[in-house]
Amino acid sequence: LAKDRGRNQYQFYNAEMREHVKNRTDMEQALRQALERDEFELYYQPICNLETHRVVSVEALIRWHQPGNGIIGPGAFIPLAEETGLIQPIGLWVLQRSCEQLQQWQEQGIDDLCLSVNVSSNQRQLGFSAQMAEKIINDAGADPRKLVFEITESMFLDSSDEAVTWLKQFKELGASLAIDDFGTGYSSLSYLKQFPIDKLKIDRAFVRDLPDNKEDASLVNAIIAMSHSLNLELITEGVETQEQLQYLHQAGCANIQGFLLSKPVTAEQLPAVIRQIEFSLSSQASADYEI
Ligand code: C2E
Ligand code: MG
Ligand code: MG
Ligand code: MG
Repeated sequence: LAKDRGRNQYQFYNAEMREHVKNRTDMEQALRQALERDEFELYYQPICNLETHRVVSVEALIRWHQPGNGIIGPGAFIPLAEETGLIQPIGLWVLQRSCEQLQQWQEQGIDDLCLSVNVSSNQRQLGFSAQMAEKIINDAGADPRKLVFEITESMFLDSSDEAVTWLKQFKELGASLAIDDFGTGYSSLSYLKQFPIDKLKIDRAFVRDLPDNKEDASLVNAIIAMSHSLNLELITEGVETQEQLQYLHQAGCANIQGFLLSKPVTAEQLPAVIRQIEFSLSSQASADYEI
């Protein structure tokens, strides 16, 4: 009986596995077609400076308009793109689209806005390089000094000279480097002095339970102190409440990003969203002042 049950389970597992593989293959095929059919779109999420009350930067976040399926977020397809190598052409498309958008903003007189692009760790293994980025930037006529490349700590598991050189070449283009999801990786902090990093983005896992959670508050305070002493620009991600904003502001975090300010929006929506954020932050500041 146990054997029968075992066999049934095995068959069930098999069928499930086949279904899984089929889904994966279908999904991979759909992702390839999505590139050809131009179904990806970049959304932009504002990053705001709490001293100047200005939106200083935006992060480009990919979305997939899958016909019949609505808008699909990156969590549902970036991992598979990374496994299959499709992250390489997708990453190039993201950079190209970002550079075109930067150039367009410059033309419209919006010349003080930086743009962050996420780069997956395995894009390096797949051959993505500063030379490729340079060509894309030049072709689009974008200013490389407005570009920020967001990388994660997993990039530093390999702290070889080649990895250092690879990253330095992006800096030599004039772009900046930010560590995304800071504090969630497993690599040693020594990479902060080995690699030419400009910015840290505190992961939203540390923000969610602020200001009540004392451990999270201590960790955030420590990261803020470290960013000051290492002269790294700091951005806190995932700010959803006014209390979190107030806490981070008084703790000395200069820049924030999160749903409290705005969700990621389309290029068309962005100018109005920026005006509204800057208006509400400065009126809030003058209200605080009066108290
Ligand atoms: P990330 O780079 O850490 O981007 C921030 C994510 O947090 C975004 O999710 C954003 O919508 C979300 N977020 C921002 N503020 C809040 C908040 O206040 N509360 C909550 N709950 N979430 C917030 P999204 O757009 O779904 O992207 C998820 C991840 O997918 C990104 O995390 C990034 O790792 C990856 N990704 C997105 N676009 C690209 C891309 O073009 N290339 C690559 N390689 N990865 C990308
Ligand atoms: Mg990011
Ligand atoms: Mg990330
Ligand atoms: Mg992040």
